[in-house]
Amino acid sequence: MQVEIVTIGNEILSGRTLDTNFATLARLLEEASVKVAWHSTVGDTQERIAEGLTRALDRADAVIMTGGLGPTPDDVTRKAVATVLGRPLQLDEDVLESIRERARRMGRKLVVTAETMALLPRGAEVWPNSVGSAPGLLVIHRDKPVMLLPGVPAEMLALAHEHLVPYLRERTGRVIESFTLRTYGLWESQLQEIIGALDDAWPGALLAYLPSSFGVDLRVTVSGANPAAVRETSLRAYNELFAKVSGVVYAEGATGMEEVLGAILVEKGWRIAAAESCTGGLFTKRLTDVPGSSRYVERGFVTYSNAAKVELLGVDEETLAAQGAVSAAVAEQMARGARERAGVEVGVGITGVAGPDGGSDNKPVGLVFVALSSPLGDVVRVLRLYGSRTTVRERAAQSALDLLRRHLLELPVDATPA
Ligand code: ATP
Ligand code: MG
Repeated sequence: MQVEIVTIGNEILSGRTLDTNFATLARLLEEASVKVAWHSTVGDTQERIAEGLTRALDRADAVIMTGGLGPTPDDVTRKAVATVLGRPLQLDEDVLESIRERARRMGRKLVVTAETMALLPRGAEVWPNSVGSAPGLLVIHRDKPVMLLPGVPAEMLALAHEHLVPYLRERTGRVIESFTLRTYGLWESQLQEIIGALDDAWPGALLAYLPSSFGVDLRVTVSGANPAAVRETSLRAYNELFAKVSGVVYAEGATGMEEVLGAILVEKGWRIAAAESCTGGLFTKRLTDVPGSSRYVERGFVTYSNAAKVELLGVDEETLAAQGAVSAAVAEQMARGARERAGVEVGVGITGVAGPDGGSDNKPVGLVFVALSSPLGDVVRVLRLYGSRTTVRERAAQSALDLLRRHLLELPVDATPA
């Protein structure tokens, strides 16, 4: 089945709104082994939408459209679709009632035009919207499904998950299994070398390398017509891949490094305080992104100036003068100072040159020192990071989290951070 995705909206054509709906849908469909063969964007008028749909029906086996399902006068997708498919709009009482019910529940007055959202092309199947008012719609036209989703990204996503993907899967008769191994510490090319052509050995499997500041996620999707075979390939792929890269896997699925670390700290019953310079609090922010982190995060020090390092952490002025703020010795004193002043088991110190200015020959942009102090001992590591100021800071925080994870689990701490 070859699908066309048509996104609707002048704001997309003008470049003001990024077409994230397309990107989200394309990724979901790839995972579901449904081929996206075309993507187009049309303006908000009935004429353009009609043209877009007609062209898509000519070439594709199925059409997905997003946007223009709301109650405002510029939302004309239903009208355009009704015209092209020759299915006049009819009021659907159930949809109208659910729109009214939602307004009551949220204590809102219904806009006069809200009723237009219940005017549906004749014979359309309704996909209830669990996040907003306008439902998704499915119309089968000469054996080709035409699927309409709202433009609001959160509503689009909910409908895609709850209705669109299950529907397409059933229609294509394919089963999908997928898993993600999250790695940190090796470049994509280093992982490729280690993994090699392993994926050729898994029929129906797709291995994607997804690099970001958080490391490289390895996502494997297996699809096929036979559920037992898909299951078996998926399990084999998991075991073989894990065996190759287990040294750098920090989590599976969507779990973040901060959650992994939180679980370790809870398990140990240890509390943490971090002293940060170049990351400006990002490390502690990451830790406190996790609900329930008050159990182990005691405090954070953002000590940007030398004076703050001396005053709040007891860093030695002579060390600062002799070695500079970006040095292993200062990072160590920051970690120990944070640990002692907060009276906790784990102290962290991060100091570095985030850039883009302020680098020198012996202290270039991206040079970062991370120090840890815990009952397991004291550790300091130097990182040499690349990229923009944002990237350097994100990677410094992620590297520090990973270093601490390895330290607390008593794993080797020397994997080169990417
Ligand atoms: P509403 O009920 O809000 O009118 P709708 O289904 O009519 O929803 P639109 O009016 O087209 O959808 O868009 C609603 C919001 O969603 C707008 O803020 C728009 O910028 C955003 N949006 C629409 N299409 C996309 C897209 N393809 N990618 C990202 N955002 C989008
Ligand atoms: Mg709208």
